[in-house]
Amino acid sequence: MRPVLDIIRRQSTFDEVVGGLDESNALFEARRCLSCGNCFECDNCYGVCPDSAVIKLGAGKRFAFNYDYCKGCGLCAEECPCGAIVVELEEK
Ligand code: SF4
Ligand code: SF4
Repeated sequence: MRPVLDIIRRQSTFDEVVGGLDESNALFEARRCLSCGNCFECDNCYGVCPDSAVIKLGAGKRFAFNYDYCKGCGLCAEECPCGAIVVELEEK
C-alpha cells in the first residue's frame, strides 16, 4: 500500500499526497502476473520473427502480421510474455 499524506498536512506542505512504493511493496507488485493477454509493446515478437513478418504500427497501435511472409513457426507466440499472440492452423 502506498503512503498517503494526512489531510491536514496537505494544507501546509508541497509533499506528495500519494507517496511512491517502498522496497517491499515494489517487489510485491513486480511479482504480479503479466499474462493479461494484452500487448504492452515489448517488441519481443518483432525481434524474434525470422521472416520480418511482424509489422510495428507505431506507439500505442501495437503490431500487425504480414501473412505473406509468416511461415507459422510460432516463435512470436512463444516469446510473447503475456499471451497476446495466438497461432492458429490455416484451414485448407
Ligand atoms: S509465426 Fe513465426 S514467422 Fe510468423 S510472425 Fe510469428 S515468428 Fe514470424
Ligand atoms: S511479444 Fe507480445 S507483448 Fe511483446 S510486443 Fe509482441 S505481442 Fe506485444
